[in-house]
Amino acid sequence: MSFADLGLSDKVLQAVTTAGYTEPTPIQAQAIPHVLARRDVLGIAQTGTGKTAAFTLPMLTMLENGRARARMPRTLILEPTRELAAQVVENFDRYGTNHKLNVALIIGGVSFADQDAKLTRGTDVLIATPGRLLDHFERGKLLLTGVELLVIDEADRMLDMGFIPDIERIVKMVPFTRQTLFFSATMPPEIERLADMFLHNPQRIEVARAASTAETIVQRLVATGGEGHAKRERLRTLIRGEAELKNGIIFCNRKRDVALLQKSLVSHGFDAAALHGDMDQRARTTALDAFRAGETALLVASDVAARGLDI
Ligand code: AMP
Repeated sequence: MSFADLGLSDKVLQAVTTAGYTEPTPIQAQAIPHVLARRDVLGIAQTGTGKTAAFTLPMLTMLENGRARARMPRTLILEPTRELAAQVVENFDRYGTNHKLNVALIIGGVSFADQDAKLTRGTDVLIATPGRLLDHFERGKLLLTGVELLVIDEADRMLDMGFIPDIERIVKMVPFTRQTLFFSATMPPEIERLADMFLHNPQRIEVARAASTAETIVQRLVATGGEGHAKRERLRTLIRGEAELKNGIIFCNRKRDVALLQKSLVSHGFDAAALHGDMDQRARTTALDAFRAGETALLVASDVAARGLDI
């Protein structure tokens, strides 16, 4: 799959080449054709997946036709924080080098006057945090009835930050016939409810974060040549072979393997504790605290128990 297959305009393709991108990321490959076909999109993706370009590139292509009118932005992007909003502006600057578009950033903490001036000139892309956008609206300086495309980015963070009532108010001010792109890293029930409410027959696209490991970690694959006993013996040899080993976590993919392996290690004289989802909270906390304090060297854990471990 190449960028040229996605239906983007020549100007955008040139900017992508200048940016040095050789192929679209999975969210870009999957979302861009649907955005260009004016479908609503529900994108389940985290930062780092290239999701910003997944909406900025097709938006630039679509904005090549038409002109902005004073105080009536053509597109609106909602971001939970000023930093994220500023990053989206940078994306428009980078990919929009061949375009003459007015991009306005409406965030708190800076003066209204400059923002007003930009809105008056006519805005193709309005990138905003919800609170400041509503402030401008209430001052009568902004009309959202010309918005053709709405992006709600980082919806689950909006929820965490208490912005959902603001978002619901804003969505009521934009035309019902708009196109909506909705992105969230996770889909808790409250976010599913909003997606149902804001989107019309959306294309649902889900991508995993690109797997990455800290550079200080050495990864090895060990072939054990057998199940059960042979595997446990191999593990003991590995542990004994690490003279400098202070501590270690051993993950198993089944809870009963956790219990079995931990007992086996203890019976062979190792200092090992177990951690899995069936243990009560007190036992889990005790096991974790002992590991954290260096009192137990080995922790045998299921991946469920390990989620969110902060050691
Ligand atoms: P995002 O998930 O939008 O925050 O993007 C993460 C990073 O990936 C940004 O620094 C982008 O510049 C970069 N990026 C986006 N799309 C591509 C691509 N197709 N190839 C290489 N890098 C990309």
